[in-house]
Parts: sequence; structure tokens; C-alpha cells
Amino acid sequence: DPRIHGIKTKIRVVPDFPKKGIMFQDITTVLLDPKAFKDTIDLFVERYRDKNISVVAGIEARGFLFGPPIALAIGAKFVPLRKPKKLPGETIFEEYELEYGNDRLEMHIGAVEAGDRALVVDDLIATGGTLCAAINLLERVGAEVVECACVIELPELKGRQRLKGKPLCMLVEYR
Ligand code: IMP
Repeated sequence: DPRIHGIKTKIRVVPDFPKKGIMFQDITTVLLDPKAFKDTIDLFVERYRDKNISVVAGIEARGFLFGPPIALAIGAKFVPLRKPKKLPGETIFEEYELEYGNDRLEMHIGAVEAGDRALVVDDLIATGGTLCAAINLLERVGAEVVECACVIELPELKGRQRLKGKPLCMLVEYR
């Protein structure tokens, strides 16, 4: 799709952020370009509009930028999966490993129900640990995870293999 090249050119790569040796993929420069941002949303909406998705689960923080417009366009509810102690209601959580130490994702109890058909959205998949935690949260409450959607994949980290067999749709690979 010719739109993908346009999106790719708008992703800014910032060396040594947040620490030395990391090539940070910055999607805020995609958001600055209304056409690239709209194309990003449209590509996902075209893929998911007839898939009977009932919930879009967005991962904090950049999954909150792409998830809600997709949810609105396909007529699904949006559920935020948040870092610890941000959600005010009763939550369940899943822990996942970072390079140093652990983090967790939390989800409001009752936001997703058994039988919901879920799409998980984030900006980028690296090791896949974050998306794996999101899948576990959704499956614990009886939802079916239909697919994960990311703007960027770092394929060398093989994060796809950690998605419990769920398909991944991405727009741009960074090698
Ligand atoms: P993973 O759990 O190793 O797959 O890391 C993915 C998570 O880290 C996502 O929530 C991303 O937003 C974030 N992340 C890791 N590297 C980058 C990057 O280069 N740019 C933007 N986000 C990143």
C-alpha cells in the first residue's frame, strides 16, 4: 500500500534515547502530519471494520493515541490498559519483564466481558512482553483476542513469537 511509505518517512528515529545504544522510534512526528496520521488510522480501520471487534484495548501511553480513533471508526468500545496505580476502579494486573526489573499493566474489572472480541493496539512491538501481558489480561476475563496491531515492529527481537499464537498486524518494520 503506497500509504505505508509515507507513514514510514514521518517516523523519527532518535539515537541514544532514553539511554545510550537505543534507537528510539518516535511516532509523535507521524501525529504532526495529518495525512500520515489519518493514513495510519485508515489502514487499521480498513482491516478491522468487518471483523466484529467489540473492544479495542490500547496500551499506555502511545496505544492511547492510535486505539481510540480506530475504536470510534469501527464501532467498538475502547479500554485503556494502564501502568500501575493509574486506574481508579477495581483492577486486575499482569506483570511483565523489562530489561531491568518488572512492570505491570492493569485493566478495570468489568470493562471487558466474556465473549468480547478484542483488538490490542500499541505503537511498537519490541520483545513482545507488553503485548503478551495485554493478551493475558484480556483472556483472563474471557475475551477472545482477535489480533494485535502496532505501527512499528522490530523484527529482530522476535516479539511475534511471544503473542501466544495471536496474529500481529504492523505497518512498518525497523531493522
Ligand atoms: P516490548 O514489551 O519489549 O515489546 O516493548 C514494547 C513497549 O515498549 C511498547 O509499549 C512501546 O511503546 C515501548 N517501546 C519500546 N521501544 C520503543 C521505541 O523505540 N519507540 C517507542 N516505543 C518503544
